Amino acid sequence: MEKVKTLIIGSGPAGYTAAIYASRSNLQPVLYRGIQPGGQLTTTTIIENFPGFKDGIDANQLMMEMNQQAVNVGADVRDGAIVKADLSKRPFICEDERGNVIEASTVIIATGASAKYLGLPDEEKYRGQGVSACATCDGFFYRKRTVAVVGGGDTACEEAMYLSGLAKKVYMIVRKPFLRAAEIMQKRVMEQENIEILFNTNTVGLFGEQGVEGAHLVRNKGEQNEENYDIAIDGFFLAIGHTPNTELFKGQLELDQQGFIITKPRSTATNIEGVYAAGDVADPIYRQGVVAAGTGAMAAIEAERFLQDKGEK
Ligand SMILES: Cc1cc2nc3c(=O)[nH]c(=O)nc-3n(C[C@H](O)[C@H](O)[C@H](O)COP(=O)(O)OP(=O)(O)OC[C@H]3O[C@@H](n4cnc5c(N)ncnc54)[C@H](O)[C@@H]3O)c2cc1C
Repeated sequence: MEKVKTLIIGSGPAGYTAAIYASRSNLQPVLYRGIQPGGQLTTTTIIENFPGFKDGIDANQLMMEMNQQAVNVGADVRDGAIVKADLSKRPFICEDERGNVIEASTVIIATGASAKYLGLPDEEKYRGQGVSACATCDGFFYRKRTVAVVGGGDTACEEAMYLSGLAKKVYMIVRKPFLRAAEIMQKRVMEQENIEILFNTNTVGLFGEQGVEGAHLVRNKGEQNEENYDIAIDGFFLAIGHTPNTELFKGQLELDQQGFIITKPRSTATNIEGVYAAGDVADPIYRQGVVAAGTGAMAAIEAERFLQDKGEK
């Protein structure tokens, strides 16, 4: 059985940054890249809000650079996924998809999260051409334009408020006859002049020649007064939640209601000593590359201090 001081699961900004820090403090980390080497950012084009690149940078290139940086400082970066993790006692026993078993003194989980979509074929067709699941990432491209936000919870209200500061007009497409957000958030969106809430409304499709130009909607679906109509929009933002990649750890780690790993305040420590969580997998709030990278660094520093304290470094 292979023994490692630090096993890092995931190759987004959190995983690679953890690998860079852990390598530089001589933890000789092993990192598994999983089915999406480079993580979520490999599904976008230019990233303009990662510091250090004054003109933005191609997100795939950024992730390749992070991979190479981790390798250059000594990380053992491997293809493949971790398919089993027994965190019941230290050292933790993990297995990769080829059946290799690893005994890890510390584990850094950086498996990320995926945005939920409605499941319409048009979302796929227009992804990156008007369809987005991140207002903070893409809102800037819709300055003085018209956008729609799908969802009626806190996140949807926050995204709508954020976009209302950039866009000319924001529609909120809400399936229910009410918002599920906290009262203060509801009040804010209702009072915001350029936000119009479309209650009892579902999206059935999107249209446009070169990118999104509008959405086909249905009001009061299945009722006598059902009504189909279109709105003209330039951007379609999903805000119906994220699914964190925590299947492997269910029943072992403390998770919140949505499945995000709960970490200690101002720390990446989980409820299990020696197991750390960094990036989107433990972040239902910010979900940004730079935040993921920051928490990746924290996780590696915390793992190093833990091993130092245990005399296992
Ligand atoms: C289309 C799009 C555009 C975005 N634009 C921006 C932007 O402009 N600016 C910004 O800051 N953020 C942006 N984001 C958000 C950003 O991508 C995320 O916040 C960031 O990637 C989170 O990094 P992470 O390291 O936590 O995980 P992720 O990037 O989600 O990576 C998770 C990693 O875990 C791996 N993994 C999962 N399960 C396993 C397993 N069992 N074994 C091994 N590996 C596993 C995957 O293969 C993947 O490598 C965007 C996201 C999307 C989807």
